Parts: sequence; structure tokens; C-alpha cells
Amino acid sequence: MELEQFKTLHTRFFGKELPEEVTRSEDYEAYADALHEDEACYNWAIAEKLKSKGFDYGSYCCLMLADKVYESLDEDGETRYDDPEVIINKWDEGLYGIPVHNGSATMVVINYCPWCGTKLSK
Ligand SMILES: [Zn+2]
Repeated sequence: MELEQFKTLHTRFFGKELPEEVTRSEDYEAYADALHEDEACYNWAIAEKLKSKGFDYGSYCCLMLADKVYESLDEDGETRYDDPEVIINKWDEGLYGIPVHNGSATMVVINYCPWCGTKLSK
């Protein structure tokens, strides 16, 4: 899908309660497919979301990692521990880890981005 077309559909569909006749429409299906399968569309949508939240994603190797780190924080910007929806954490020292959901704050430190393979330096 052309990015410009995706942007138009995004404005129509994103962040809204959509009735079933809309979510079953061809336009919506094309939008959802592009969001999940088209990297340019996905990256644009994630960047828009992070921008609107005031999250500084520019220092991350890719938008996927930036988004997952953003999703790991609560409203105050603090790390959410033992939340099964959190799949990656970032510490202030620039370390990244995968949380082990065993009721404690156990993490497996990782050295490379799971999505783009970039070395995660300290
Ligand atoms: Zn990455």
C-alpha cells in the first residue's frame, strides 16, 4: 500500500471505536494488513504514536524496540515489573533485558536487538 493512502486510512481508523461494519470493510482490512505487513506503514504509524506520547524514539536502533520499551513503562515512565504484556525492559544504564515473569524482577540481559539485530551498546 502507498504510504499516503495508509496515512489517510490511519486518520479514519486509528484510536477509534469502530462499528463492526467498518472493521469488516475492505478499506479497514487493507489498512490492518498494511499495518502488520508493510514495514513503511508500520514504522510510520509507530513513529506517529510515539511522537504523540512525547517518547524520544530517535535514540533506538529501530521503532520496534522503541515501541516495546515504551510499552514497558507506566504513565510515570517507570518500568512495569511482572506484567505479562511487557516483553523487554531498558535500564537507565543502557542495558536491555527480557523479563522473566516469575513474580520477581528477574531479567535476562540481551546484547542485540531481537528485531533488527543491532548490538545494544551501553
Ligand atoms: Zn532494533
